[in-house]
Amino acid sequence: MIKGKNAIVTGSTSGIGLAIAHSLAAEGCNILLNGFGDKSLITGIVNELNSKYGVRVDYSPADMTKPKDIVDMIDMCDRVFGRTDILVNNAGIQATGPTDGYSIEKWDQIIAINLSASFHAIRAALPGMKKRNYGRIINIASVHGLVGSIDKCAYVAAKHGLVGLTKVVALENGDYDLTCNAICPGWVHTPLVDKQIDDRSKAEGKTAEQITKEMLGEKQAMKRFTETDQIGGLAVYLCSDSARTITGTTIAIDGGWTAA
Ligand code: NAD
Repeated sequence: MIKGKNAIVTGSTSGIGLAIAHSLAAEGCNILLNGFGDKSLITGIVNELNSKYGVRVDYSPADMTKPKDIVDMIDMCDRVFGRTDILVNNAGIQATGPTDGYSIEKWDQIIAINLSASFHAIRAALPGMKKRNYGRIINIASVHGLVGSIDKCAYVAAKHGLVGLTKVVALENGDYDLTCNAICPGWVHTPLVDKQIDDRSKAEGKTAEQITKEMLGEKQAMKRFTETDQIGGLAVYLCSDSARTITGTTIAIDGGWTAA
């Protein structure tokens, strides 16, 4: 159903974004990759997606803290592939600490990458999507778009904001074949979470295994990670014809985190 469509996946050089790029490419979607990484890593991903799935793949070096870069990324997709059909706003970072004393620089960076970047990308992609009467926008939010956790003020604020943005974009575009939804994962084993495990094991003097067990146990009914390819599968579903009237909603994939 999405064969031949063109997708931008921000932050797709690692973790969830990379898995979404694989899942969409496996369905025949051309992919514009984005995210940080050295030249050999990026060339490797471009070549792997291209040879494995036979789709067109390119890379935008846009920095999600820079609105002009983001507009250039949408322009690049339109120029290289002809149009932007699917936009996955996935790039994100995390930094933890209590609100009093939380780094102002980190706050600004998290709001820029985890929230404002999605606004800039959606704003630039919408006119073309509306003109062609087709668009699938997927915002990778988090359970932290639905509930809070201590020490995550910027992340929780950004992800709640992203859920709000998702609803407004859906409401504004109901006259088109254009959907906008947010995926809200719980713990997914990626470099972003590895860093949190590492920080906590250093701070608490425990092993990574102990911290992992505690982290999963504190939050989720299911004491296991969601795998990145599950998020990829959900993104493919949201782009499928079966999901064409799912819009403005949040889908938690969180091992029961938000059931409590
Ligand atoms: P990750 O660290 O593995 O990947 C993050 C990606 O974003 C990388 O490709 C990185 O290069 C890119 N990125 C970071 N800053 C960027 C910038 N300024 N410009 C462009 N690209 C940038 O992290 P992940 O765990 O795969 O996270 C992906 C998304 O999923 C994030 O939005 C995160 O908040 C969300 N999420 C993750 C989890 C989890 O448990 N891992 C849970 C819920 C939500």
